[in-house]
Amino acid sequence: MKLRYLPLLALALPACTSNPPKTTADQAAATPADARFDRFKNQFILDLWRQNPDYASSQGFHKYDSLLVIPDAAQRQREAAFVAKNLAALGRFAPDSLSPSNQIDLRLLTNELRSQRWYADTLKGWQWNPANYNLGASVGDLLNGRHYQLDRRLRNISDKLAGAPAYYQAARANIQQPTREHTELGVQQNEGGLAVLGAALADSVRKSGLSDAEKQLLTQRIAGARTAIEGYVGFLRKGLPAGASYRSFRIGKALFDRKFALDIQSRYSADEVFRLARQHQADLLRDMGRRAARLFPKYCAGQPMPKDTLQLIRQVIDQLTLKHAPRAGFVDAVKRQIPTLIKFVNDHDLLTQDPSKPLVVRETPLYMRGSGAGASVSAPGPYDTKANTYYNVEPLPTAWTTQQAESYLREYNDYTLQILNIHEAIPGHYTQLVYANRSPSLVKSIFGNGAMIEGWAVYAERMMLESGYGDNSDEIWLLWDKWNMRSTLNAVVDNLVQTQNASEADVVKLLTTQGFQEEAEARNKWHRATLSQVQLSSYFTGYTEIMALRDEVKQREGSKFSLKNFNEQFLSYGSAPVKYIRALMLGR
Ligand code: ZN
Ligand code: ZN
Repeated sequence: MKLRYLPLLALALPACTSNPPKTTADQAAATPADARFDRFKNQFILDLWRQNPDYASSQGFHKYDSLLVIPDAAQRQREAAFVAKNLAALGRFAPDSLSPSNQIDLRLLTNELRSQRWYADTLKGWQWNPANYNLGASVGDLLNGRHYQLDRRLRNISDKLAGAPAYYQAARANIQQPTREHTELGVQQNEGGLAVLGAALADSVRKSGLSDAEKQLLTQRIAGARTAIEGYVGFLRKGLPAGASYRSFRIGKALFDRKFALDIQSRYSADEVFRLARQHQADLLRDMGRRAARLFPKYCAGQPMPKDTLQLIRQVIDQLTLKHAPRAGFVDAVKRQIPTLIKFVNDHDLLTQDPSKPLVVRETPLYMRGSGAGASVSAPGPYDTKANTYYNVEPLPTAWTTQQAESYLREYNDYTLQILNIHEAIPGHYTQLVYANRSPSLVKSIFGNGAMIEGWAVYAERMMLESGYGDNSDEIWLLWDKWNMRSTLNAVVDNLVQTQNASEADVVKLLTTQGFQEEAEARNKWHRATLSQVQLSSYFTGYTEIMALRDEVKQREGSKFSLKNFNEQFLSYGSAPVKYIRALMLGR
């Protein structure tokens, strides 16, 4: 089965929980059909976990932690049978007989199964994406997880690693004409995985309460897994046999349109989003021009004001971005801002926060680095709502030159860093995921919609600034415009790269001139646009849908409109596609 999960949810570190997981059956069923559907959902999820133990552990379900699924042809057949059986079962529920919330769940499950089918049979990333296979990441999750005591975690790791040679053998057999870009990613991530199976793990084994025989067996299995990973890395590094060529990383318009429909589940088509993004790009540019003209005398006193708007904006931004964290203090700068954001949200009554679930800021673990996301949130799944949520911040690579570092630090200057923290942490991803885990629908928590999740984080930035965060200054708004231009251009670039043959030079030029990005950021975005498809469109699409929905609710409620009520009600449905939340909020 595919695991097309977002980078921000790539890892969860669960802790002990004394409460049994909330199941959909706990809810009072509205009708006999709802009761039947709730039973179906619970059984479906249990079956799903057995086939996807890593996904299960990431969501806080730990019964299958010791299982390793070998990604071979027999497994793909089992998955196809699973999808067929459950799609048939879902087809027997009449949507009209279910509660609105269950109607959404029915749509989500149907979409999920159709996606799985399409990913396996049509997109076939299991053939061309060598980064699909990475045992180090799941061992890292088990090792760091605190659901079980160390000894039990190590026994699970031991059982799992026993299958490592077969796992990587199947991986090698699956690879057919990979892309060069995903091959390089596979090398990098598996080398990170090797680090997980290194000295720290050996140290844990020594200190554990395992018997000598168990320790010996585990040590052998770790050695076997290391050999298997090294073999896989060597296989990938060797390149293709003579006469063979890498396939293009561009999936083309037909696959892109379909993937957009399945992943995003938006009211809009991929073409419509591309058009809306181009419009929004022009709107942002106009606002930036106005603000830059007002700021110019303050920051560029005595200089002639450029006639060219792009040049004017660039010149003002270049002054604003001089204020930034020192290279070695980047992670600390993030850490220091979190309490300010918590206080602002409380003081302005934007939504209710849960102080019992603090956010832990940490340096991104090695095996998660390299995907191009400088910061991400690792949230506990719906079974582990008491576990820590981590804010992963990647320190600047030591290999970077002074110029590379300066470029990156200016991109994440003192203003933009605050916007990043709103987006990733409060009241962005972290806050949204705390609410999602409270949602009574396990299905909505598990099959989170990426566009809703990213859209919320972008909306949260704007909502904070509208509420006076940053004192409504032209400085913070100009840099928000620039930042919002980034998610807008993400959607543009995604489409241009995957369906319109845009080159690296085209993309870097667009992002540095129209997007005012530093070159390092632009090249990083290009890299990411070659590795993912559709995901970069999710920010703009979700944001646009949420803003449109808020306008609709405002119009309907008039003077009775409450921002806090809107925010809390919107978040109360879990990470469902915005179009379904809209249907529930507007009662249609
Ligand atoms: Zn500097
Ligand atoms: Zn995000």
